[in-house]
Amino acid sequence: MQKKRPYRFCLWITLIAAVIAGCVILSTLGAIYWFGSEVMPEILATPTEINTCEGLLDFMVENYESTGSTREISPTSPQVLVVYPVNGDQIGEPDFKTVSQELQSLQQETNSHHLIWAYFTQIIPTEQRELLSEYRIITDGLQGEIAAQVEIGPQYTSEGDSDIWVLESEQWVLLVDLADYSDNKLFTSKLLHEFGHLLTLNAHQVYYAVEDPANCSRFFANPGCSMPGSYLLLFFERYWGDLYGEWQTITSQDDASMVKSSLDTFYEAHQAEFLTRYAVTAPTEDIAEAWSLFVLSPKPDGDTIAEQKILFFYNFPEFVQLRAEITRRICEYFHLSSSLER
Ligand SMILES: [Zn+2]
Repeated sequence: MQKKRPYRFCLWITLIAAVIAGCVILSTLGAIYWFGSEVMPEILATPTEINTCEGLLDFMVENYESTGSTREISPTSPQVLVVYPVNGDQIGEPDFKTVSQELQSLQQETNSHHLIWAYFTQIIPTEQRELLSEYRIITDGLQGEIAAQVEIGPQYTSEGDSDIWVLESEQWVLLVDLADYSDNKLFTSKLLHEFGHLLTLNAHQVYYAVEDPANCSRFFANPGCSMPGSYLLLFFERYWGDLYGEWQTITSQDDASMVKSSLDTFYEAHQAEFLTRYAVTAPTEDIAEAWSLFVLSPKPDGDTIAEQKILFFYNFPEFVQLRAEITRRICEYFHLSSSLER
């Protein structure tokens, strides 16, 4: 009898452990079922092999142009689904717009709206996004032209009858196409790209009171005239000098499908000069892509012009500092320590 006791004891312990483990698994599955994947999207979406900050950023670079979205939303012209006012880190009450039935599920997905906003405010420091006044959920369908976008609205007043325009206020809107969203990890490159526009197209970089390219002696950012010494103008002069004429001929064609196919050919011919296919769509897009990849990529050797576009940002200590801050914040969000020198 005495010999059997340890065996029974072990049996009981095993049974109790099995019951506890069963409860944990069932309640986890239950939570996922009831609350949907929004409860723990990052945990579910994280490939198990990503366990370092560097691995995470590498993953973002490798998947730079993919969205991971499998939502079946038909292409449409861009439509606004919800508008949120922005106040610092917070967004206010949603203003739901009238939309077709197909788009209502995206409109009602307020958990995702908040999750994207929370991520954006987590990775971009507060003082860098003071110009944002509105956050909009939009869609042009899955894999449409837009994944995310920023819109600009600098307000000028004129001094009497003179040609001097004074900047009164500057307000930007962040637009997110929810049809192209799957998780924050894959959406990072899109948010960084948009933030790149904020850095390079704000009213200290571009003079928006100049609306006619004929009145702009420097690169015309359409809209607005790039300012002397602006990042955008320096970037343009360094990397677009030889290409701009050819690019202008292509993009001034009337037929949109001709523009698209000619730009594809242009990209194939100059692939070593561009970081992504999308970058050829405009110098303003090229610099935003370069900024986004500057943040996420390791410092390249600069063997190609494309790599030199990433190195461009290393010339500015303010950007090197901001890059370190943003990558630290990204990794912090995904609970990965960021002691990396990249
Ligand atoms: Zn863009």
